[in-house]
Amino acid sequence: MSKVKVAINGYGTIGKRVADAVSLQDDMEIIGIAKTRPNYEAVIASEKGYAVYTLADRIDAMKDGGISAAGSVEDMIAEADVVVDCTPGGVGVKNKELYEKAGVKAIWQGGEKHDLTGCSFNSGANYEGALGKDFVRVVSCNTTGLCRAIYPLDQEYGVKKVRVTLMRRSADPNDIKNGPINAIVPNPITLPSHHGPDVKSVIPHINITSTAVKLPTTLMHLHTLNMELERECTADDVKELFAKQPRIRFVGQGITSTAEIMELGKDLGRSRGDMWENCVWDESITMHEGELYFFQAIHQESDVIPENVDAIRAMTEIETDGAKSIAKTNKAMGI
Ligand code: NAD
Repeated sequence: MSKVKVAINGYGTIGKRVADAVSLQDDMEIIGIAKTRPNYEAVIASEKGYAVYTLADRIDAMKDGGISAAGSVEDMIAEADVVVDCTPGGVGVKNKELYEKAGVKAIWQGGEKHDLTGCSFNSGANYEGALGKDFVRVVSCNTTGLCRAIYPLDQEYGVKKVRVTLMRRSADPNDIKNGPINAIVPNPITLPSHHGPDVKSVIPHINITSTAVKLPTTLMHLHTLNMELERECTADDVKELFAKQPRIRFVGQGITSTAEIMELGKDLGRSRGDMWENCVWDESITMHEGELYFFQAIHQESDVIPENVDAIRAMTEIETDGAKSIAKTNKAMGI
């Protein structure tokens, strides 16, 4: 069978990682990436062998920057079966008409709203819901992390209520524009925040509420979860359940912070030091007065990457079994 042809529109933090993860799979291939400027990322993409496309009015600027642009974004998507839109939040929505006109399937990221596609995706929770779909949104890094933890607990014990506090990194490590650099910012101040409820775009019946603050760090988000479950269970039961999940990793053994988790990612020799799994402190998993508590850290730059690969398989139906796709993606990426 021929490989699914994938194009990446927007080659930044998420786009470059999706491109590399797709390249590792044996059932799909990258036919091109689109970049707006001939910066270092475009140069490296070209050196890696990706065909570099750009906006129609920037082809000459790309050539002036030393990169022989393969053509326009329109040319790229004409060649693709699926385009993964990794442009900044709010920009991707403007590309929908372009994809519709080209008759190409498209995936957007969590910066876009659920209504754009009507199908918000998490590999473990609703793979089947994306089968054969033309347009899918892979939910944000935080929502992905929450779905991975909440869905199996709901399946096994039933979730009555989730309360989550998100301690968010204020910017990605390469971001020199955003902050704060010396403050803790309640964000948003009006409560609850939208983060937890975005889980409902994937698992609608979950009763969840969230608050969020931004912290002066670039190294991961950290969630404090408190959950009431329908059926009784022990902390050990939850540990056993989480240990079986393909994208949850226990951290401990001297790891007491997100900084050490990021060091672990580098020590593991992972591409860009990425930690694709939810990093749960197994020691933190506690039942107190009948309620579950635990901490998990989420690597914002990378946890959604394997989900994008699975979304491509679901939409093209080259694999209709979600568990098989997750296993295949994990194996190829080394998760
Ligand atoms: P980014 O700013 O790192 O990358 C976006 C890329 O798109 C840049 O290379 C930019 O030059 C390019 N671009 C801008 N306008 C374009 C256009 N019109 N056409 C083609 N390319 C264009 O952004 P990111 O962090 O990779 O975020 C992309 C999406 O992923 C957003 O929806 C975001 O909310 C979501 N997301 C981001 C993170 C994260 O922590 N970085 C995590 C999960 C999801």
